[in-house]
Amino acid sequence: MTSEIDKIGREPPYRYDTTTPVHVPQAYRAGPAGERFMILIGTMNLTRTREQGQYYCPTCHSTQEYRLRARRPFLTLYFIPVVPIGDAELFVQCSGCRDKWDPTVLEMNKQEHESIQVEQFRDEAMRSALLIVLEDGTTSRREIKTLQAIANQLLDRRMDREELGELCSIAQQNGIRAHNYVLTVSRRWTQSQKAEALGAMFLAATAEGKLQKPQSKALAGMRDVLEMTEKEYETAIEAALHWEPIE
Ligand SMILES: [Zn+2]
Repeated sequence: MTSEIDKIGREPPYRYDTTTPVHVPQAYRAGPAGERFMILIGTMNLTRTREQGQYYCPTCHSTQEYRLRARRPFLTLYFIPVVPIGDAELFVQCSGCRDKWDPTVLEMNKQEHESIQVEQFRDEAMRSALLIVLEDGTTSRREIKTLQAIANQLLDRRMDREELGELCSIAQQNGIRAHNYVLTVSRRWTQSQKAEALGAMFLAATAEGKLQKPQSKALAGMRDVLEMTEKEYETAIEAALHWEPIE
């Protein structure tokens, strides 16, 4: 799942979108003899498996079985598919996590996946820190400075106020909350990435010296969201305290 906030400054994600509505409208028509009868017309997607094999799954972080599947929309008459009304869409489905991917996932090797995953993680951790700041509905100058320092550390590049402002307004316009966002994106994070992201969120939340209530609540909730033990959670916070912010 990808939310609006992920689209900023990033190539289109290769995760496959699975939402295709299926609807079955009904049509009435006058018959040849003038009597009325009903023709039931609709559409349906037919999915077939074209090939199977093994691939490296970016969600499972391991080699898994996959099925290359083709989905094609058909016009149905009385629920029977008669004519195809669109091209077949190909996607790869993982038998481990059931995630769906664009077929290009098969062309990439483990190393490429890992470097993409790291890039993606950094962006996601940055956005998580920003969303924690937004929990109390305001962004102070200190918070912006802290977010910029986190960007220097995480992304290894400067993030100007404009870029931060753009991310903030997208998050606010779409009502994106830290809890839901992290819940979605952290599925693909490794244990150490979870700790790193939590550290970034902690630093962002404490930018003003003390924790505001909505921020401390969101931060405390991250232990469950990230499925961390109490010890892992504390260690991650502890480590964040030793971060040297690069101004
Ligand atoms: Zn998988």
